[in-house]
Amino acid sequence: MHKLLIATNNAGKVKELQELLKDIDVQLLTPADINLTLDVEEDGTTYAENASKKAIAFAQASGLISLADDSGLEVAALDGAPGLYSARYSPKPGANDADRRIYLLQNLKDKPQPWKAHFHATIAIAKPSGDIELVEGNCHGEITHEERGSGGFGYDPIFFLPEHGCTMAELDMAQKNRVSHRARAVINAMPILRKIFGLENQA
Ligand code: IMP
Repeated sequence: MHKLLIATNNAGKVKELQELLKDIDVQLLTPADINLTLDVEEDGTTYAENASKKAIAFAQASGLISLADDSGLEVAALDGAPGLYSARYSPKPGANDADRRIYLLQNLKDKPQPWKAHFHATIAIAKPSGDIELVEGNCHGEITHEERGSGGFGYDPIFFLPEHGCTMAELDMAQKNRVSHRARAVINAMPILRKIFGLENQA
């Protein structure tokens, strides 16, 4: 059976990508499944650069076709911050997701509401040869000052979806996977994956 490595160490992303990719007829593997420990420095200046760097590093280390996601939250009132730096957005050493949400809200508190924002995801699919394909997805909403919900990860508890009347963290995974930036990017990735694995007749 064909194999696809989900090239991320982020547990939240792994769970979502496993669910989003479950209908394609390939065996999904995580770095843990193949005992691969790899930390790729995300020093690119674009999502595409970082996603490509991660996908290629995992593909070359494993010999498997690898799919990596580089994503972030862009807040209009902060000129697009934290953006590419979403995973590292806090001055506190050893900061966690909750610290980053608090820091974001501190930086927003004097800005006029609504705090329009969107999540962005760029997915890179790499072959061990270094061939790479890129797709993107976005999800629009607003930052809310009150944390709500316990699902998802990262900024989900403060990312409000006006058309659903709730935060991303109040959606269950199936619901999040119908609207998220990552879900939209995966929809765009499907034809590429089917082509790479010769599964076009499954579309
Ligand atoms: P990176 O792609 O590893 O650079 O990390 C992306 C960061 O963006 C995550 O660590 C989260 O802080 C944030 N992020 C990306 N996608 C989501 C999401 O679906 N929900 C909440 N936060 C997200």
